[in-house]
Amino acid sequence: MSAFKVTMLASGSKGNSALISTGKQNFLIDMGISCRALTTRLKEVGFCAEDLDAVFLTHEHTDHISGLGTFTKKYAVPIYSSEKTWRAILSKMPQIERKNCRIIAGGVRCGEVEVSSFEIPHDAVDPHGYVLKCAGSKCAYITDTGFVTETVRQAAEGADTLILEANHDIEMLKNGSYPVYLKQRILSTRGHLSNESAGHFLANLSRVPEKIFLAHLSQENNLPSLALNTVQNILNSASLFNDTRIFVASQTRIVKDY
Ligand SMILES: [Zn+2]
Ligand SMILES: [Zn+2]
Repeated sequence: MSAFKVTMLASGSKGNSALISTGKQNFLIDMGISCRALTTRLKEVGFCAEDLDAVFLTHEHTDHISGLGTFTKKYAVPIYSSEKTWRAILSKMPQIERKNCRIIAGGVRCGEVEVSSFEIPHDAVDPHGYVLKCAGSKCAYITDTGFVTETVRQAAEGADTLILEANHDIEMLKNGSYPVYLKQRILSTRGHLSNESAGHFLANLSRVPEKIFLAHLSQENNLPSLALNTVQNILNSASLFNDTRIFVASQTRIVKDY
């Protein structure tokens, strides 16, 4: 059984934040909702900001960092990102209190958990995903990735818990109301992962994770049921479904695996 419990506090283009806990330690990946919304949602699942051991940021897009300004003034929690990403964040949000900003260069050990970062292809200065390892368990966080690189595949390989982007249904996006430049951006190799790509990615792993969270769903170009069905059908047709539990993260409500 996985050592990690996941709470998707918010997921989507209006804000992302995931709480990953081992029971002893609690980590947040991304802080794309206001500090107030974050603390409210943490409270709903029995946590407070002081319980956090560290925060890890994937990239500087607003939907991943918008709560940072207030958070860094109120709480003394170390916040990790790459050096280039910090530079981009600080130029966007100069009000950030810098004393808890930390640079993650490859990896960091936080108590019983080893956290490492890996590069993802996305239109940000230096975007990363994260892998957390503890007691033989592995959890990988992969959103905002234009396609699946070998590095991304390796990050997910062997994970028992996987948070994976299923951003859009390709047909909904193509036929939808987004302007052409935005459609092209999303579909590009530095954009976002579609439901189908997520499904094929999972089917090609040597072991399908015990728990999968489909994340960063577009509210315009996707539906939770469509994301779930697309991924399930691909796994079923590859006879890979087994006991995997699939959760669909939401922009508006908390989704958790416990
Ligand atoms: Zn995003
Ligand atoms: Zn992004």
